[in-house]
Amino acid sequence: MSTASFNRRGLLLILSSPSGAGKSTLTQLLVRDDPKLKLSISVTTREKRGSEVNGVHYHFISETEFIQMRNRDELLEWAQVHSNFYGTPLKPVEDVLASGNDMMFDIDWQGSQQIVEKIPEDVVSIFLLPPSMVELKQRLERRAEDKADVIARRLKNAREEIAHWENYDYVLVNRDLDETYKQLRTIIQVERMRRSRQNGLPAFINELLK
Ligand code: 5GP
Repeated sequence: MSTASFNRRGLLLILSSPSGAGKSTLTQLLVRDDPKLKLSISVTTREKRGSEVNGVHYHFISETEFIQMRNRDELLEWAQVHSNFYGTPLKPVEDVLASGNDMMFDIDWQGSQQIVEKIPEDVVSIFLLPPSMVELKQRLERRAEDKADVIARRLKNAREEIAHWENYDYVLVNRDLDETYKQLRTIIQVERMRRSRQNGLPAFINELLK
């Protein structure tokens, strides 16, 4: 019997980074290749970018709707980032964990902190750094979906986001997408094997030693 077949506590896998460090691409690839990993889709009041799809990348909602959700305690965490509101709907997280799967979050340091405070034992947090600030600026410009003033604001906020690197369990530098992808897969695999996460272990050991 492999460890994977044990009944296991679900993971809340948080991936934070400044905008443009490659986080969205990586999260999309990880959930595509791992059927036990689901991506949390946040609600946001920010304007939709051209390439984004409502309900896939975000649920795009109005500020009134956001405030209603927040007041009804429907958000696991929320934060204001780049003058827009972002939040994680609670219900999908509960459903995914109850079904024995893991949930991945593409959220900022403020949201990460709130989830760690609420559910410390099941969170694994990863911070993704760009190789350099020059590279980060180039990536934001290459994306070309934001106006110049938005890019400037994102660069300024990147410094603020990076300042919180010490609050994360793992810190990776995204020099090469394939390499970073492999590193993330490794982290997920080993975290799933932690003794404390394998609920079925005591029963298995009992059986083993009979
Ligand atoms: P973007 O506007 O570039 O998609 O995201 C801006 C920042 O907001 C990113 O750092 C992203 O991780 C963060 N973010 C996205 N969704 C959420 C969320 O639900 N909660 C929090 N706290 N941050 C979020």
